Amino acid sequence: MPLDKHSESFDYIVVGAGSAGCVLADRLTVSGRHRVLLLEAGGHDRNIWIHIPLGYGKLFSNAKVNWLYSSEPEPELDNRAIIQPRGKVLGGSSSINGLLYVRGQAADYDHWRQLGNTGWSFEDVLPYFRRAEDQQRGADALHGAGGPLAVSDVCEPHPLCEAFIAAAEQAGFPRNDDFNGKTQEGAGYFQLTARNGRRCSTAVGYLRAARRRSNLAIVPHAHASRILFAGRRAVGIEYLRDGKTFTAHANGEVIVAGGAFNSPQLLQLSGLGPAQLLSSLGIEVIADMPGVGADLQDHLQVRMQYRCTEPITMNDVIHSWRHRVGAGIRYCLFRKGLLAVGAGYAGGFFRTSPGAATPDVQVHFIIFSGDTSGAPLHPFPGFIASVCQLRPESRGFVRIKSADPRMPPAIQPRYLSSRHDCDTVVAGMKLLRRIMRQPAMRRYVAEERAPDPACTSDGDLLAFARATGSTVFHPTSTCRMGPDATAVVDERLRVHGIERLRIVDGSVMPALVSGNTNAAIVMIGEKGADLILQDAGAGAPVEVRASG
Ligand SMILES: Cc1cc2nc3c(=O)[nH]c(=O)nc-3n(C[C@H](O)[C@H](O)[C@H](O)COP(=O)(O)OP(=O)(O)OC[C@H]3O[C@@H](n4cnc5c(N)ncnc54)[C@H](O)[C@@H]3O)c2cc1C
Repeated sequence: MPLDKHSESFDYIVVGAGSAGCVLADRLTVSGRHRVLLLEAGGHDRNIWIHIPLGYGKLFSNAKVNWLYSSEPEPELDNRAIIQPRGKVLGGSSSINGLLYVRGQAADYDHWRQLGNTGWSFEDVLPYFRRAEDQQRGADALHGAGGPLAVSDVCEPHPLCEAFIAAAEQAGFPRNDDFNGKTQEGAGYFQLTARNGRRCSTAVGYLRAARRRSNLAIVPHAHASRILFAGRRAVGIEYLRDGKTFTAHANGEVIVAGGAFNSPQLLQLSGLGPAQLLSSLGIEVIADMPGVGADLQDHLQVRMQYRCTEPITMNDVIHSWRHRVGAGIRYCLFRKGLLAVGAGYAGGFFRTSPGAATPDVQVHFIIFSGDTSGAPLHPFPGFIASVCQLRPESRGFVRIKSADPRMPPAIQPRYLSSRHDCDTVVAGMKLLRRIMRQPAMRRYVAEERAPDPACTSDGDLLAFARATGSTVFHPTSTCRMGPDATAVVDERLRVHGIERLRIVDGSVMPALVSGNTNAAIVMIGEKGADLILQDAGAGAPVEVRASG
């Protein structure tokens, strides 16, 4: 008999059906032994633009699938408020993201281990990446095949991307056909989390099969407002739905998977956070935890815009009805062409100085141009190459401004608040310019639109970054994992000092990874599920081994 979503108690309650939450819902229910409630503030992923990769541009400002957050004015970015989109739909941000599949560097995870997080070195987490993956190119020592998360080569060669890759080679960087292979360094095409030209969010990859199980109850449009405690033990969740308040009880654990903004918000609303802040808002303090909402990290990108000499960019397709129809037909018939392209087409990972042990900047090469992310495309041929520092030192915070769970928290990444970050961003811009001025690329550059070619000094370049820089949408680390006094969860993702409460999502990253964050968070979901089942004495439900 199916579970009664609104009255029963469950073994596990998972808050948030995002990149990690969908993985948990699947892995915790596969044995049939556990009854799981999955609460999601957003609705079903029925919007057609979720599933067509290029449609991601249409989801930036759609309140039906997006929390539409914004940062507080950023002091080091000329006091501009920076948009902070987050998925509010089954699949979470994996339903609205740019689809790029990049795991980061082995050194990122070895660093997590060095910070005291046993079980999180690259060697430890690689089996979970492999278990998750359904790599179109097949399995090998670094890749998995047959897993729920489809990874494919959607992008066909494009003359502009070929020129970019050749220009990088002319500038002394290698061509790289696999950013998740032995080395990340070099220029090449991105792989996408897509199958047959359609997005593979975690809702598609994991939840579609799991939702048919009678031991999983999924409640969409359910906004968790508070974690319920008995002393220092989490016992359930209070949530809002259709203007009513419901409670659900967990015999096993409550698992928070609301993402880097909403997870610390929910903990703070529930009495776990900086005591002074909570008391000032009239919230009873269960535990004074200054680390909840601290250490916000994000990737800042600086977009350099170019007018193209030839009408071969996406701008030209979008502004011609004949090309649009052609692209539509090609996509419908073959699932190929411009509609199958994600946020970046080609790109690369580069070291800004020989002293850097591994790449310290990422470039996204995009064959369209607009003034900002999500803005209308320019009415002329254009393209963009953006530079982003991979391991920023800048740290910000997420803090509730109200005890009302429906009010957004204050989000303050404090981009470019470290000297090292400013220097790396400027070095990255210079490096990118060097690539763009190589012969292979020069023939396509009609004009450097932004920054202006006269913008050359370090001071001018930094001023440009401060005036135009924006997020690459990778906030993490607001409920950081670690053994130290301000860490929020331990290496098994249990909240320090609290029983039966775990956090499993991007907020637990000890440090931001050197790449796009979805792949790493799916891995965290996979490993988190095993930790939960091991602690329940149920053992690992699925072998930690990808097929092939
Ligand atoms: C526009 C955009 C583009 C991106 N592009 C890429 C890319 O190309 N490649 C890449 O690797 N990464 C990309 N990312 C980042 C990546 O998608 C995210 O880091 C990742 O999806 C976050 O996973 P998560 O599980 O931590 O949180 P989410 O996936 O955001 O999941 C959190 C879920 O919890 C729900 N929730 C939150 N609070 C509550 C509550 N109180 N009650 C109930 N439910 C709640 C949310 O609605 C959401 O569904 C992008 C992100 C965005 C927004």
